[in-house]
Amino acid sequence: MQISAEEMKKSIKKMYEMLDEVTPVDFDCGTLCGEVCCVYDEGEYRNKDLVLYLLPGEELMYEDSDYFEVYYIDPKDLDYPRSWKDDVFIVECNDPPHCDRSIRPIQCRTFPLVPHISKDGQFHLILDENEFPYECPIIRDNIKLNEDFVQVTYKVWKMLITNPNVYSLILFDSRRRDNKRKGYEIVI
Ligand code: SF4
Ligand code: SF4
Repeated sequence: MQISAEEMKKSIKKMYEMLDEVTPVDFDCGTLCGEVCCVYDEGEYRNKDLVLYLLPGEELMYEDSDYFEVYYIDPKDLDYPRSWKDDVFIVECNDPPHCDRSIRPIQCRTFPLVPHISKDGQFHLILDENEFPYECPIIRDNIKLNEDFVQVTYKVWKMLITNPNVYSLILFDSRRRDNKRKGYEIVI
């Protein structure tokens, strides 16, 4: 059964509210790295090759925001599973690190945890340094993440993978990660 846009928006809003209640650590970890995952550096956007990929339905949260530009891409132009037929939405942050944090995307909210499905089908959250073009001190220094952040992030991703497109994408990324054999740390 097709889910209506209204229902999708409601479910994304619920996930945002759940994630609003938790933070990766009890201090502003941006002070450790100069907000490397989102800031300009001396006027130049350091991570200009990075965009945030939206999960299905998240695009509905960005109907009217000065802080984000939303684009869509044909999945055929991306390294996405063939089964994914819908347009893929991405956002660019207009003025990082200034941000409307109430609508920042799930990919940003759940960082530095990454979803992973093991070969025996178990769903995990992992830390994977190889995913990012910059060094995150939380991963580098093995700083312990808040337990409630881990638990809520896990719950949210479990909700997200009930969408077959999301499940197939996570599975696709997981097998590719395993093939690279670079290693990662399972958090939960
Ligand atoms: S999540 Fe990592 S890279 Fe991003 S602000 Fe915190 S410490 Fe820096
Ligand atoms: S959504 Fe906000 S916090 Fe996240 S990368 Fe963009 S500007 Fe930074």
